Amino acid sequence: MSKLRTFINWIRKERSLNNSIVQKTLETNLRRIYYLALIGIPSHIAHVIMFWITDPSSSEEAVWRTGIIVVHSIHLLVSIAIAIIISIIRKQKHLSKKAVYIQYAFIVSLSAMAISLVTIDQYVTTNITPFLVLCLGLAVIFLLRPSSTLIVFGVVLTAYLLLIGTVQKEPAILLTNRVNGITFVVFGMYLSLILWNTTRKNLFQEEEIKRQQKELEEKNAELQRLAFLDTLTGLYNRRKWYEFAEEESLSICRYSTSGSVVLMDIDHFKKINDDYGHPIGDKLLKEIAGLLRKNLRAVDKPCRWGGEEFIVLLPNTSVEEARKVAEKLRTMIERTEFSIDGESIRVKASFGIASIRCEENSLDRAYERVDRALYTAKQSGRNIVVSET
Ligand code: GH3
Ligand code: MG
Ligand code: MG
Repeated sequence: MSKLRTFINWIRKERSLNNSIVQKTLETNLRRIYYLALIGIPSHIAHVIMFWITDPSSSEEAVWRTGIIVVHSIHLLVSIAIAIIISIIRKQKHLSKKAVYIQYAFIVSLSAMAISLVTIDQYVTTNITPFLVLCLGLAVIFLLRPSSTLIVFGVVLTAYLLLIGTVQKEPAILLTNRVNGITFVVFGMYLSLILWNTTRKNLFQEEEIKRQQKELEEKNAELQRLAFLDTLTGLYNRRKWYEFAEEESLSICRYSTSGSVVLMDIDHFKKINDDYGHPIGDKLLKEIAGLLRKNLRAVDKPCRWGGEEFIVLLPNTSVEEARKVAEKLRTMIERTEFSIDGESIRVKASFGIASIRCEENSLDRAYERVDRALYTAKQSGRNIVVSET
């Protein structure tokens, strides 16, 4: 009983694995059917012409000749129709049920042609080559799941066994042809199963490689993000800020433009932590960072310098203009009532301003000046903007 349950579970698992790749194999099948139909067109025309120009030497040969011309003509028309339909539906992003019908319509038409030809051939020959070609073709060209393989080959074999008996009246030849037919079908089914399994493995490996690549790309993007962003506020970190500032410093020297830095320090932040606790202090720093981001131009680079200090690079901005920007930020912070975890908090901040000049160690020099300006702001009672001297 438990063995039966294991077997049923195995079948279920196999079915769901097969379902997951059916769309891909359908795409492959349609592509293959399209090219097979195309290369089949001149082949059918050649058959029709060759049999047309051959005079039959007996009434049986006449039936055989007419039969072959009719069968090839019908399959020629089917091939043209299917090639046209596939060229239309292949452009669709998701293959619909129609694609499945087209696939089976072509398989039915191909099988009907081969079985009709082999049956008609029995009027003049014992040969069953068309049936051998059919079994190999079904196995190699179409990627069919095992249950479909079983049904297709089962129907094909039944039709073959019945129809061949309607023309071939020699019992020994009939027996031999039927037995050979069964062998071809078994061989074809085995080949089909092997190819399905190999394809399935390849597709899963492809999927796995794609998944791993995507994961790696995501991890890389995250690592890059972490390498230049401050984790608490999401603003640039010092390292990235220096990159921007160095570029700006080069541009200032080359094009004689101006650039400024604003250093901001929140007033009495220690008291905020003491009054409301560190977690609320953290959230407040985030809010202030958001405020900076929202009120600066896209070209300005705000950065968390450390603790409750922020620095902003203002490219192409003179000290006078930078002063206006800092004043705007100062009043904005002063007027904002931050609402965090039900607490209503007000803070103020002090600002220092300095220009980046074209000089040796320009960034270090600018930082010294801006730090001095901020110190003066703190000494002068806080909540003010002080420019470099
Ligand atoms: P001042 O007006 O002179 O700048 O006073 P202040 O209290 O802001 O300055 P001080 O340098 O004495 O203290 C800075 C405080 O900022 C102390 C520290 O606990 C707090 N702080 C620094 N980094 C963080 C942080 O990441 N989260 C929180 N919640 N607090 C921080
Ligand atoms: Mg500080
Ligand atoms: Mg402070």
